[in-house]
Amino acid sequence: MDEQKLREDLAIFYNAMHKMGWDDLIFTPTSVGIPGTEHFLIHEYGLMFNEVTPDNLVKIDITGQIIGNGGPIANSSWMLHRAIHEVRTETNWVVHWHSPDVCALANDPRGVLPISQHALVIRAEGVVNHPYGGPVVMGQDYLDLQNLIKGDVKFILMAGHGATVLADNVEEAFWNMYNLQTAAEIQVKSGALPTLIEKSVEDTFVSKYKVFKNNIPNNGLWNAVKRSLSK
Ligand SMILES: [Zn+2]
Repeated sequence: MDEQKLREDLAIFYNAMHKMGWDDLIFTPTSVGIPGTEHFLIHEYGLMFNEVTPDNLVKIDITGQIIGNGGPIANSSWMLHRAIHEVRTETNWVVHWHSPDVCALANDPRGVLPISQHALVIRAEGVVNHPYGGPVVMGQDYLDLQNLIKGDVKFILMAGHGATVLADNVEEAFWNMYNLQTAAEIQVKSGALPTLIEKSVEDTFVSKYKVFKNNIPNNGLWNAVKRSLSK
């Protein structure tokens, strides 16, 4: 995928986060690695997410140094993204957000409960929990986070902080974010003792999901979201 198409996808993704109410003012960037290069795209720090355009996205290297014009970027936020991009070089998209519902779910010691189809998607994919150690900076917490996400995990709940999802493309990025956000809203509203989906039903769901999951995010959802932005 060329850089211009990636800029368009990423800018629209920021705009969609704003429309869905999943943004946090000027914070919580999403970053994307540019395939075939050692560069990344991220939003200009200070812009609301509905102000992000393909042209004002900022190109940086892994250290956060700006390539060419533009910027500034959120250097402290980049540390979380850098930790992930360093060890998950095959997965380009890193989406991070702080909605109150994902923050509440990340703080729930029960983890993601089997109480909705959205939750079953998360459980089928696998989710890890990252304990809060303050803002991510170089040190043991940085290394612990990298160890946590080695392999193929794509969902990270971050206690005291928020959530991060990984994805291979914009369609999967939106699909993963949508499911975790919605699972969180449902769990938060379900109270202390929600009815759990039976294990045998979940097992059937998981086996079907693993067969069809590659088609689900590509079945027109992202195109529909893009159309809704122009309304
Ligand atoms: Zn954050």
